[in-house]
Amino acid sequence: MEDSNTLRAAVEELVVANHILFDRGIVDGFGHVSVRHPDRPDRFLLSRNRAPGLVSAQDILVYGLDAEPVDRKDEPGYLERFIHSEIYRAHPEVMGVVHSHAVSMLPFTVVAGAPLCPICHMSGFLKRGTPIFEIRDHAGDASDLLIRSAALGCQLAAALEDHAVVLMRGHGMTVVGRTLRQSVFRSIYAEVNARIQATAASLGTATFLTEGEAAQADATNTGAINRAWDLWALAAEQNTARLRGA
Ligand SMILES: [Zn+2]
Repeated sequence: MEDSNTLRAAVEELVVANHILFDRGIVDGFGHVSVRHPDRPDRFLLSRNRAPGLVSAQDILVYGLDAEPVDRKDEPGYLERFIHSEIYRAHPEVMGVVHSHAVSMLPFTVVAGAPLCPICHMSGFLKRGTPIFEIRDHAGDASDLLIRSAALGCQLAAALEDHAVVLMRGHGMTVVGRTLRQSVFRSIYAEVNARIQATAASLGTATFLTEGEAAQADATNTGAINRAWDLWALAAEQNTARLRGA
């Protein structure tokens, strides 16, 4: 891998992001997170095919927008790495991408009449009616639901539009941010939002944030991400070190 201080810092932060997402239950053995290369907008950093909770700096590869590693070309990658490559290609402002199969999100991917909407001040990044990507529209009715080609990644990136989250029917979600930390923060609170919304729906008709409330809350939270990050990082490092027996 090329060597520079900014690249080393990006790799280190991506390792922490992997551990946080595992520790917070957003990914388990599956799911992944990437960051756009700090010096090369046409490249991104993503682990080789490894469970996020076990990822270390040696696992991080540099990918081109063709979803192939620039070096270490024989390392097996995630099947769904096209999610990342095609979102970075289609959305130049995106700097971080999280793909998750979090269980709480799944009901909102399969019930058309229950769109995921911002329900609390921590999830103002959601817009009303988070889009649902229907893979049948692009891959027919006998796919394995995975984004395993550039063509499917391209369709998913188009479905994202200018949202922070795109739901994937029967599969999970993909979340983007203008920083890696923001994409992680949004993944965690999208999952929180889903749990609150499902609980509220069981009680009655929920009141959602207005567009103005959502925008204000998002601006406030974006300024406070580092406070949560420092706590999540410490907890994640302690818990993943225990897992590894370190
Ligand atoms: Zn997936």
